[in-house]
Amino acid sequence: MDRISDVYSADTFAKLSQVWQATISEHMSRVLAGDGKVLNWIDPSTAVAKAESFLTANESPAPDTLESRSRKFGSLLQTMLAHGQNLHHPHYIGHQVPASAPAAGLFDAVGSVTNQPMAIFEMGPWGTAVEIALIRALCCKVGWNADASTGVLTHGGSLANLTALLTARNIAFRDSWKTGVPSGAVLIAHSDAHYCIARSAGILGLGTQQVVRAELDHRRRMDPDRLEHTIREQRRRGKSIMAVVACSCATPIGAFDPLPQIADVCERNNVWLHVDAAHGGATLMSRRHRHLMSGCDRADSIVWDAHKMLFVPALCAAVLYRDKASSFQTFQQDAPYLFDPSRPGDAEFDSGTRTFECTKRSTGFGLWGLWSLYGEQLFEDLVDRTFHLAELLHARLTASDDFEPLHTPEANIVVFRHLPDRLRTASPEAQNLYQKQLRAAIIQSGRFYVVQTTIDGVTALRTTVMNPLTTENDLSELLETIRELGSGIVPAIEQHWSGASKHRPMQLPDHAKCQGPCWVSGTNRKR
Ligand SMILES: *Cc1c(COP(=O)(O)O)cnc(C)c1O
Repeated sequence: MDRISDVYSADTFAKLSQVWQATISEHMSRVLAGDGKVLNWIDPSTAVAKAESFLTANESPAPDTLESRSRKFGSLLQTMLAHGQNLHHPHYIGHQVPASAPAAGLFDAVGSVTNQPMAIFEMGPWGTAVEIALIRALCCKVGWNADASTGVLTHGGSLANLTALLTARNIAFRDSWKTGVPSGAVLIAHSDAHYCIARSAGILGLGTQQVVRAELDHRRRMDPDRLEHTIREQRRRGKSIMAVVACSCATPIGAFDPLPQIADVCERNNVWLHVDAAHGGATLMSRRHRHLMSGCDRADSIVWDAHKMLFVPALCAAVLYRDKASSFQTFQQDAPYLFDPSRPGDAEFDSGTRTFECTKRSTGFGLWGLWSLYGEQLFEDLVDRTFHLAELLHARLTASDDFEPLHTPEANIVVFRHLPDRLRTASPEAQNLYQKQLRAAIIQSGRFYVVQTTIDGVTALRTTVMNPLTTENDLSELLETIRELGSGIVPAIEQHWSGASKHRPMQLPDHAKCQGPCWVSGTNRKR
């Protein structure tokens, strides 16, 4: 068979699908049960070399029987699975990415296999319908009327925030789409806002230095009184305020801003209120936790990531607007070959008029499928379970003399330090170094996956319970694992601290210096 006939052969597809089904099912059942390591640590350049080796392996004639093709397919799948991160392992309590509901991935796969991109309604009719239905449902959860509000799905919270802030910019500065941003324009943002907010200011022509930090209270929430003061102070200096960015919740410790008071301030001062609820938006699905977002219905725009706390695979994020008309201010541009001016009423069914992306993956299939298959109560269960586990972890840490939580969790994010007796009186530098080495040892062991952060100069371990399969036992085991691995590190830290090796700076393993994706909170704060 020639290559093209083989690639498109229905028999080949059927056979490969069978191999896929058997391989992934077997893998998932192992990972879900917590067998094996969370992360099989591999040095990045070794991983790249390995990936590269497969690209050149085909230079000799490839086997072309269906049997050999499917064997090779299976072995490639095994390679992928063996080198991936195991988010479904109950010991994954690291970044804010979930052990996604496996069924959501199966719905997503329909779009991947049959290719359902959208831009205008007729290009991807079902992808578009699903997206609009989801946006309407999410707007209802916010407390808005689904006919008066609107939104779009984007590839991730960062692009969603950029989109919302572009809308805010065009509304605050009417001509800015054509003539650029007026001088003296500023954006006021939560001090712990995700780095994509400052990045958006750079992209939108404001400049990252025009991001004014809104000050926080002792729980790292935006302080409404000081916000009002900042707005007045900026105006007194002749600045024009593009928007205020609040967080529900901010990434470092998961603190939720007091939205009713912030909305009062924004309303009094006539400023656009944007709420970055990438992580915490899902609390709206939970009767127990939705109070954390109360007042969000007064925001002008909201960002809500489904690929975080709605447990669908990346990427799927929503930008929501209280006023439907706002959404058409984002891109004041026409592309006549795509958007038919003779059908103006249909423009709202063309995602391309309102998103940065032209061709866009049907990113809503996973969420729509999961929601339709299980009902929205599933999301309440997932939020309640993971938030509860974080509470349990916090209680355990508080009850243990050698652990120190840095905050009381409002969400499923728990930041803490391990401080065994022997390091209690060590210098802050030595204590910080210990947390870094500890985190490196934990992830290299493959026994747990956690991340690290630095808050006000204090280095700590950061966990986010994103896996509903994590149990209380797993949490006890985490503390035990930390004690065990820590006891191997303490002597070197002690020696370093006591000055015995003053002239020999302690070397960190390379990956201990790298905090992974930059939304680990420690790096957010450096604007
Ligand atoms: C995760 C997160 C983001 C970034 O979203 P991505 O989907 O990773 O691009 C932005 N803001 C907050 C508050 C977040 O938690």
